[in-house]
Amino acid sequence: MKIGFIGLGNMGAPMAANLAKAGHEVLGFDVLAVKVEGVTAVANEANAATGADVLITMLPNGDILRDVAAKVIPVMSAGAVFMDCSTVDVDSARAVAKQSIEAGLLAIDAPVSGGIGGAINGTLTFMAGGSNAAFAKVQPLLDIMGQKAVHCGDSGAGQAAKICNNMILGITMIGTCEAFALADKLGLDRQKMFDVVSTSSGYSWSMNAYCPAPGVGPQSPADNDYQPGFAAELMLKDLRLSQQAAEGVNADTPMGFAAMALYETFVEQEGGKGRDFSAMLPRFAERSRR
Ligand code: NAD
Repeated sequence: MKIGFIGLGNMGAPMAANLAKAGHEVLGFDVLAVKVEGVTAVANEANAATGADVLITMLPNGDILRDVAAKVIPVMSAGAVFMDCSTVDVDSARAVAKQSIEAGLLAIDAPVSGGIGGAINGTLTFMAGGSNAAFAKVQPLLDIMGQKAVHCGDSGAGQAAKICNNMILGITMIGTCEAFALADKLGLDRQKMFDVVSTSSGYSWSMNAYCPAPGVGPQSPADNDYQPGFAAELMLKDLRLSQQAAEGVNADTPMGFAAMALYETFVEQEGGKGRDFSAMLPRFAERSRR
């Protein structure tokens, strides 16, 4: 296929490289001059989109996605697919899909989970929203860039799944970290805490696969001085998107709100920016109740 790829950052660059490595023709554009192996750099958004069977975007936020969409949709050929893999607000995802469909294109929102390692190794999980026809057309590409793709429903369903998942992740990470900090003060050994919780009803991905306590459980960013991994500011972005979505549909999400507020304080006032999101553990451990 001929693929246009816009947004060649930490995630986009390796995803585009994997498509090129698999034999697709990939034209890439980023506002920063980025060189990606196997990808032909073009001068602007329209050049990446013109004649593309599938245009993929991997951008920082919904406003930038809307700007890029306004430039590419008019030059794309009828029947081509506009696939956005960024994490953005559900409203932007739906608005861009609507414009694409009105212009005779197929549209799909397919945000990812799996981080930079998943992008490099082609092991991302995609959660997709859009028509069956759009999903069928991009599925071979999702198979190259990822190990699993779930078709979640119509436009916006991929973003909805992503922010619900990450709201659970933020909440369980905070719960796991505050429980470790309480266990410390109760004199309970962290390894014993892990041994019990990881095989009891308090288990979760945050405890079992990504344990925030250094030296305990499988290797995780905690073992590397909380270098990300998944940075706290990216968790904050996703929690804010969850609360924006909850506001829009009048959903009651008090734990999601509390998690967002804690990550906001951590990132903006407590030096959490640039640290892994599991660095909530040393934050709690250093603090007192009052
Ligand atoms: P990044 O900041 O490294 O990359 C974004 C790229 O977009 C940058 O290279 C930037 O120059 C480019 N860009 C910005 N405006 C542009 C424009 N108008 N036209 C063309 N290029 C433009 O971010 P990232 O880590 O690659 O994340 C991309 C998306 O994936 C985000 O929505 C993020 O939330 C999501 N995501 C990231 C991770 C992760 O672990 N990094 C995991 C899952 C999802």
